[in-house]
Amino acid sequence: MKKLVCAGEILVEIMAERIGQSFLAPGPLVGPFPSGAPAIFIDQAARLGQPAGLIAAVGDDDFGHLNIERLRADGADISAIKVHRGAATGTAFVTYETDGSRHFVYNIKQSAAGLIEIGAEARALLAGADHFHVMGTSLFSPEVIEVARNGIETVKARGGTVSFDPNIRKEMLDLPGLRDALHFVLSKTDVFLPSGPELFIFAKAADEENAAREMLDRGISTVVVKKGAQGAVHYDQTGRTASPGFVVDEIDPTGAGDCFAAAFVSFWLRAEAPEKALRIANSCGALAVTKKGPMEGIASLAAVEAFLATAKTGAPV
Ligand code: ATP
Ligand code: MG
Repeated sequence: MKKLVCAGEILVEIMAERIGQSFLAPGPLVGPFPSGAPAIFIDQAARLGQPAGLIAAVGDDDFGHLNIERLRADGADISAIKVHRGAATGTAFVTYETDGSRHFVYNIKQSAAGLIEIGAEARALLAGADHFHVMGTSLFSPEVIEVARNGIETVKARGGTVSFDPNIRKEMLDLPGLRDALHFVLSKTDVFLPSGPELFIFAKAADEENAAREMLDRGISTVVVKKGAQGAVHYDQTGRTASPGFVVDEIDPTGAGDCFAAAFVSFWLRAEAPEKALRIANSCGALAVTKKGPMEGIASLAAVEAFLATAKTGAPV
C-alpha cells in the first residue's frame, strides 16, 4: 500500500468548557487533547490502515509524549518526530463563541513546532514515501515552508503525488513567504481539498464549479470542496460528483476537515472511485465532530463501516 507523509505542527488543544466563555477571565478548561492539523491527518490515515508517517517536533514534556503515544498507538510512523529538550510542545487554547465560531490563543511558532527540520530521520521517512500532504496551517514560517518544499520535491522526484488542504484564512496571506509558498505548492498539487470559501482565495471565478475548473486547468487532477455538515463535492476532468454529509450530533467541529482529507486521500491512493472515497471521507468527518477533542473522534475502518451500515445522509449537496 502507498505510504503517506505529512510535515508540520503537533499541538495539544485545551478548551474552554462553556460556550461563550472568555480567556479574559479565569474559567474551567478541559484537555490536553492531542492536536495539530498534520497530526490529526496522519492519525486518521493510519487508523484507516494506510501506511502514514509524520515529520514533526515536540518538546520533551507530557504534551509531546501524549501526542507521540497516541500516534504510535494508532499505527502511525513516528520515527521522524523529533523530541527537543529545552523547548515546549505547541499549544492551542480555544473558546467557542455563542455563534459557533472559535477563538484561539496559539503558541506554535515559538514552540518546538517551530524547530521542525529535515534531519536524517525525516530523510529516511521521505525516502519511502509515495505521497506528501501539505497543510496550509504548517506554512507559518520560512523554515517550515522549506520543510514542506523539501517533502514535495523528494516525493515528486520518486514519482509520487501531492495533496494540499489550504486551511487558511485571507488574513494569513501576508505572512512572510506564504504567497510564494502557496503558488509553489499549488503548482505541484494533484489533489486539492479546500473548504468552501478557501477555493475563492485561489480562483477568479465567483461560482464553485467554474472556480474548481480553473484549478483543474492549472494541472491539478482532483478538486474536493468540503462543505461541513452538507458533505463534499468532487471535481475532475470527467465531471462533478456530489456526496451528502451524514446526520450526526456535532459536539466539536475541530479536526473534521483533517479527518476528511486523510480518508479521501487514502482511498484516492487506493484508486477507489470518487463516490466511495467521498462516502468514507464524509463518514470520517462526521464521526470526528461527535467527540470533544480534535483526534477523539478518529475512527478505524471497521468503525467507519459499522457507522455506514446504519448512517443517514442529509439533503443532497
Ligand atoms: P476544519 O475546521 O477542520 O478546518 P474544514 O472547514 O476543513 O474543517 P469542514 O467542511 O468543516 O472542513 O468538514 C469536513 C468534512 O467533515 C465535511 O465535508 C463533512 O464530511 C464532515 N462534517 C463536518 N461537519 C459536519 C457535521 N456537523 N455533520 C456531519 N458531517 C460533518
Ligand atoms: Mg479546514
